[in-house]
Amino acid sequence: MAEKFDSIVVGAGPAGIAAAYTMAKAGLNVLVLEKGEKPGAKNMFGGVIFRYHTEKLAPEFWKTAPIERHVVEYQYWFLSKDSHVLLSHRNQKFNGQYNAFTVHRAKFDPWFAKLAEDAGALIINRTTVDDVLKEDGKIVGVSTERGNMLADVVIAADGVNSMLSKQAGLRQEIAGDAAVLAVKEVIALPKQKIEDRFNLGAEEGVAALLVGFGPGMHAGFMYTNRDTISLGIGVSIRDLEESRQRPNEIYEQFKKHPSIAPLVKDGELKEYSAHIIPEGGYNYVVNVSTDGMLVAGDAAMLVNAINWEGTNLAMTSGILAGETVIEAKKTNDFTAPNLSRYRQRLEESFVLKDLKKYRDVPKFFAANTHFFTLYPEAMNDLAYMWHITDDELKADRIRRMKDYVFKHRSRLGLLRDAYHLWRLFS
Ligand SMILES: Cc1cc2nc3c(=O)[nH]c(=O)nc-3n(C[C@H](O)[C@H](O)[C@H](O)COP(=O)(O)OP(=O)(O)OC[C@H]3O[C@@H](n4cnc5c(N)ncnc54)[C@H](O)[C@@H]3O)c2cc1C
Repeated sequence: MAEKFDSIVVGAGPAGIAAAYTMAKAGLNVLVLEKGEKPGAKNMFGGVIFRYHTEKLAPEFWKTAPIERHVVEYQYWFLSKDSHVLLSHRNQKFNGQYNAFTVHRAKFDPWFAKLAEDAGALIINRTTVDDVLKEDGKIVGVSTERGNMLADVVIAADGVNSMLSKQAGLRQEIAGDAAVLAVKEVIALPKQKIEDRFNLGAEEGVAALLVGFGPGMHAGFMYTNRDTISLGIGVSIRDLEESRQRPNEIYEQFKKHPSIAPLVKDGELKEYSAHIIPEGGYNYVVNVSTDGMLVAGDAAMLVNAINWEGTNLAMTSGILAGETVIEAKKTNDFTAPNLSRYRQRLEESFVLKDLKKYRDVPKFFAANTHFFTLYPEAMNDLAYMWHITDDELKADRIRRMKDYVFKHRSRLGLLRDAYHLWRLFS
């Protein structure tokens, strides 16, 4: 007979481990199944994890966790073909009051998983869950190549492609306009070189977002690690389908940009990977509960693309899923109506409140790609005009700059853009 657990968590990413840790700490009998040879083995992200939400599980985790650098500067690059405008915010406060840390998931995830293990959860790696097990329409466990395993509640934390939630009938295949394909390289450079190039102290790091390359909704990212740089791009899958561009070619062009290339010059390629980000927002959040099952993290499409947040939504949804199971255990009621309390918890938390606030933003930018093309180009052209020193009278210069603006975007268009941004973000 298959062994029975209080809960089986599928996936040892931030969502799964947060759920497992929460339940194990409360004394529940928890099994985590992870397909990788260890947690994080196949996981990739930009990226940073956030202090605030990680500390909810592991106070002062940076003292023992394998972090790379704490972020002291956030950069926003607006590229044109051969130039850039850079907005950045560096703050000494980030040196004491840490906000975010760059990490490699292959190192961070095993450390994070050990928290759950130490609290009593059993983690079995190299085990792919193939399907959910149903009895009278209720989910009662999972099937794996190692055999069937039973639980009162299964938590699907199996990431963006979540086979499990599809098998449970809770979601469809991810739509092209809700998914971004990201490709990323990890490029090794001596530690000192990174610090010199980015003007950083020994433990300090930079997180950068870059727009203005490629014809559509393209965004680049760059993170400094201890002795590597994570550099990558994300492109909407709908854009890729329509333009028939290859993401690796877009990335190669991006990496050769004259403002980027010097930052990674002489670097050694350590790793190349690709992954999907579920950036559709609130309108694409899946059905998160049914009889005997909850869905957390990327599997539920909980990513806030505007603020570059994913791991914190994953951890928080994992905690809330875990708390829902702990509560359900008190009455041994694992039916859909009782487990629907999980959705309510998500709605009451920043997770769905933030996504709801931005619910129209992804669609707006998808329909207005000139924010990624025309505006970065214009910012660069105007900055160039402004900085040329010659005989031209400044009054004429300013008139010429105004003419440039209205030639590229009508007054009405500018007003409309400003109004929409105001409406979307206020
Ligand atoms: C390029 C990129 C950059 C990003 N940058 C950031 C950033 O800077 N900051 C941030 O907060 N977020 C970032 N994100 C988002 C963030 O990575 C995700 O939101 C987060 O990892 C979601 O966690 P999760 O636990 O839900 O899923 P995942 O981290 O994907 O974990 C899912 C786990 O399930 C396992 N699994 C899958 N299927 C099965 C199966 N059938 N059986 C057993 N195990 C299975 C996988 O191996 C994996 O370990 C980024 C994402 C990408 C792709």
